[in-house]
Amino acid sequence: MKDTNCAYCMEGTLVDAFGIKICELETSKVYLFKEQSHPGRVIVAHKKHVSEITELTAQERAAYMEDINKVAQAVHQLFHPDKVNYGAYGDTGHHLHFHLVPKYKDQYEWGGTFAMNPAEKTLTETEYADMVEKYREVLMK
Ligand SMILES: [Zn+2]
Repeated sequence: MKDTNCAYCMEGTLVDAFGIKICELETSKVYLFKEQSHPGRVIVAHKKHVSEITELTAQERAAYMEDINKVAQAVHQLFHPDKVNYGAYGDTGHHLHFHLVPKYKDQYEWGGTFAMNPAEKTLTETEYADMVEKYREVLMK
């Protein structure tokens, strides 16, 4: 089931507003978050249009957590954060997704909750392409 107003269901221009698709994993789609105040920040969206983790079967939930773990490992490997923060909000979107936000000791928002979109730091197209490529190398092997 798809929701035609949902960025994660429809992709294309709706996703372009905030993200760049990196790849698909078993149960999820992975996007680089264009706002890069936290270097390496990504989104792991479930392939199904469900609002809550409770709407997945136990098997689907376990597989989704494996995908999230795989992406978290890539974040650690590529960006060496001191902590990864995990956030699943979606009050208005209703499509299950987690923000994986690398946090760096004594740097931006360290010790606090990350903002949904601080709208402070974007990269050049070349820098985005480089980051996407690095993630693909780790996630798609
Ligand atoms: Zn959706």
